[in-house]
Amino acid sequence: MEIINNESQAKEVLRDFSEIALVPTMGNLHSGHVSLVDKAKEVGKIIIASIYVNPLQFGINEDFDSYPRTLNDDLSKLEQAGCDFVFCPSENILENIQKYKAPDISKKLCGKTRPTHFDGVVTIVRKLFEVLNPDYAVFGLKDYQQFLIIKKFFKEHNFQIKILGSPIIREDDGLAMSSRNNLLTSQDRKIAPQIFEQLTFIKNNIKNKTHDELIINSIEAFKKNNIFPEYLSILNPETLEDASENDASVLIAIAVKLGNVRLIDNILIN
Ligand code: AMP
Repeated sequence: MEIINNESQAKEVLRDFSEIALVPTMGNLHSGHVSLVDKAKEVGKIIIASIYVNPLQFGINEDFDSYPRTLNDDLSKLEQAGCDFVFCPSENILENIQKYKAPDISKKLCGKTRPTHFDGVVTIVRKLFEVLNPDYAVFGLKDYQQFLIIKKFFKEHNFQIKILGSPIIREDDGLAMSSRNNLLTSQDRKIAPQIFEQLTFIKNNIKNKTHDELIINSIEAFKKNNIFPEYLSILNPETLEDASENDASVLIAIAVKLGNVRLIDNILIN
């Protein structure tokens, strides 16, 4: 596995390769990230992961400084997973970077409390695409809104790169794996599995109750543990507008703050 640190090295090293599949990450890797590498191996011949904690996608009062950075561990996980290259750019990747606006669905859900987040995401992903020129890029469906925005943005900008989504990997107790789980207090870690429990309850009862009833029930259940979701919604998976009661395909999406740690999760029903 070879490490690439800058744009000119990337161009030189990757010049002769085709069928490249890219897995963009911010590091502090867990089995969720490794599953994206596995997915990339299904479609590409050359696998590149990138590790970059992108300042552009953090708001002023967010956790950029405390975001966990574990480069050595990450590199061994990627090597073991079968990556060919890891792109670890230095901060100068942002020098003279052209900034882009994310499509309008970025204003919904997470965009309500993180208004510039998705602009930062599409800007850095576009830069990664320009530097590494992959044929495929794999993103986790845990960040469902991000996946949708990226698909839409690169379609609108006429990129030929195939964008693939990969299923959510969970801890044994159901909590979606996240680099931020390590930042939870032990008490908050104990109650965190309720996020997936409530999503599952909604999924299992979606045919028996109205969407409003299900959401009110879950919010009541969360309240008993002093959990106050930022949002909990049942949505059309393409438009992120509220779903109708008889829609067969819906996204149940949630964001919750436990202490200072913001967690997101979802279940897609097809
Ligand atoms: P991050 O390093 O958190 O920016 O995530 C990098 C990529 O890994 C994104 O495409 C995420 O959606 C994906 N990812 C993070 N956690 C999970 C998970 N638990 N299951 C599947 N994919 C994930």
